[in-house]
Amino acid sequence: MSELFPSTRVQILLPLPFGGVLDYLADDEMHLRVGDFVTVPLPGRELQGVVWEISPENSTVPIEKLKRVIRKADLPPLPAQLQEFIEWVASYTVSPLGSVLKMALSVPRKFDKPKKKIFYRLSNQLPDKMTEVRKKVVDVAIADMPMAVKTWCEIAAVGEGVIRGMIKLGLLTPQEVSGEEAFIKPDTTLKRATLSAEQKHAADHIILQQRSGTYKAVLLEGVTGSGKTEVYFEAIAEALSEETAQVLVLVPEISLTAQWLDRFKERFGTEPVIWHSEMTPAARRRAWWATIRGEARVIVGARSALFLPLQNLKLVIVDEEHSQTFKQDEGVMYNGRDMAVVRAVQSHCPIILASATPSLETLINAQNGKYDWLYLGERHGPAELPEMSSLDLRIHKLKSGTWISDPLRAELSENYTRGEQSLLYLNRRGYAPLTLCRSCGHRMECPHCSAWLVEHNKFNRLECHHCGFHIRKPEVCPSCEKEDSLVACGPGVERVAEELQMLFPEARLAVMSSDEITSPKALKAMIVSIENHEVDFIVGTQIVTKGYHFPMLTLVGVIDADLGMSGADPRAAERTWQQLEQVAGRAGRAEHPGRVMFQTYQPGHPVLQALISGDRDQFLEQEAASREAQDLPPYGKMASLILSGPDKNNVIIICKTLAKCAPHHKDITVLGPVAAPLSYLRGNYRYRFLLKAKSHVSIQNEIRHWLNQMPRHRGVKIQIDIDPYSFY
Ligand code: ADP
Ligand code: ZN
Repeated sequence: MSELFPSTRVQILLPLPFGGVLDYLADDEMHLRVGDFVTVPLPGRELQGVVWEISPENSTVPIEKLKRVIRKADLPPLPAQLQEFIEWVASYTVSPLGSVLKMALSVPRKFDKPKKKIFYRLSNQLPDKMTEVRKKVVDVAIADMPMAVKTWCEIAAVGEGVIRGMIKLGLLTPQEVSGEEAFIKPDTTLKRATLSAEQKHAADHIILQQRSGTYKAVLLEGVTGSGKTEVYFEAIAEALSEETAQVLVLVPEISLTAQWLDRFKERFGTEPVIWHSEMTPAARRRAWWATIRGEARVIVGARSALFLPLQNLKLVIVDEEHSQTFKQDEGVMYNGRDMAVVRAVQSHCPIILASATPSLETLINAQNGKYDWLYLGERHGPAELPEMSSLDLRIHKLKSGTWISDPLRAELSENYTRGEQSLLYLNRRGYAPLTLCRSCGHRMECPHCSAWLVEHNKFNRLECHHCGFHIRKPEVCPSCEKEDSLVACGPGVERVAEELQMLFPEARLAVMSSDEITSPKALKAMIVSIENHEVDFIVGTQIVTKGYHFPMLTLVGVIDADLGMSGADPRAAERTWQQLEQVAGRAGRAEHPGRVMFQTYQPGHPVLQALISGDRDQFLEQEAASREAQDLPPYGKMASLILSGPDKNNVIIICKTLAKCAPHHKDITVLGPVAAPLSYLRGNYRYRFLLKAKSHVSIQNEIRHWLNQMPRHRGVKIQIDIDPYSFY
């Protein structure tokens, strides 16, 4: 057969969780190139993959044994830069190449030819006289670009009836298009903000970097409300002045960025292309196609947007770069912020890391000159930074079952009387974190995890926040069977809201937590009602720290500033500081001055001292010094190995085998195995190793070598987490 059809050996990477590529034969007539998307046979099925190499030199499989590539997809090839990036991520995270490719191909029906659709464009012949609403539609038309009815409605802000009416009259004419609807190009000529001197200096610096056409990382640090977004909008505009340039903006939680999207639209006349895992399959497909064809110009997304097939990446922005949500904690465990830097290096373009509370990693890179460092020290306009103080709960004792101390209550009351908004912050969902039997002491726990069940008032049930298990709150204790003996212990946001409502029965309350905000629409509705001052008090979890701008919000009360200060996590203090600084940053963002009060049992804690004195430098220096002394990141390297499986003995046996062949020399320390803090999760027993190494050690090579000595292990999963951020 191979004589009839001249063919070439190719290596195909498949999105499967095993190491490498597979060899196939491809008919020369296919003219395969590296990066082409192809369909190949596997035993019993067909699968789509990517041509990784042509005529590889290292193949040993005899040619008679090779199967043939079935077909090539009608798509531009996977960009070489993305191929390089996939290899880099796989190697850095010690993950199978196929698992990383899978992230890049998580798009439904990407290889099918899109169905033909009917769109509408403006007719060439329009009457001179037209109604006001119809004129509005004509005005928003973009040359003769055909658009879906829905898009017309959206950009002209008219009802569907208007558009349908115009179609009937022939003012809009149908046109069959194949493929997805194009995205509207951002318009860089619209009115822009007049930048302050400090903002302008920052923007100019970044633009100079952009023009040099090389990689450069820039830390854009600025106090909350200083206009970092305005500054990097200028950089986006600069990038867009090149015809085919693409810009990637990573944000911590895309579903929480409604206000950001509005501002983008105001500045560039259209929304950017959005990318995250909760989009509908159709929307994902449209965004992916637009990206690979180079039509998507500005893409804003969650960390997974790093794996989009960008053709001409010219600028990367990571907003709120300190955010932990950039770290993926399952599957391929990677840090989106760090990988974004790699993507920028490989694309030879600048990257902007923006934050009011930069991570220590980034700050140190800025301090030692690896990154450029821009600083915005003033809030925009008349707004001043809020005044912060701590409330010592050892002095202002809480009455049992209450969480708002007297001085905080007095402040809330005063603020309410003045007609200003207040926010109470507690990073705990639900009503109470623990339910306990008063009579026998039984604690309500999840049957699948070693975790307490959290009471949620909304559905009157107890929920596990790790696996989703839930039950109705029982009326008798499951252990001693006593009636009405189960009591809620500790506060969640719902309980604080209940207390507030009791204190201020007339006041209007909003609870901002992921239980209340179940869709971008619900979030938007809540934001609008806060902006319109239909709310007096907000009680929120960490969701409220996400960059919101509420002009009438002047008082922030932190219910439990000590929460999250301790624990095994070396970043606990840093993270608490970031969260509290961010939540404090919601206060007093417009003309009314803001105040922040931290309820605490440890007012002397360095984190609180740093917040109140505003001397964060000293705090961060201490943090840095203590990490350096212990060889912790960013000075040393760290990795976790997490072993899990349904059979506890099995897991322990594998742990022991691993422990015997653990890396052993002076520059690396292996701690464990120990039962994980969450020792039982979703029906699996969990054990952990922690590796600490000096910075010159390749921790990846150590792990590869280590695991290569392991015999096959069934029923036990080993997860590798390079530079872990979570330790449960
Ligand atoms: P940050 O991202 O640093 O917290 P933002 O970019 O959100 O700050 O800016 C805070 C507020 O100030 C926003 O409402 C923004 O529109 C406004 N703002 C910032 N800079 C300017 C400017 N130069 N002109 C007009 N408004 C500005
Ligand atoms: Zn559970």
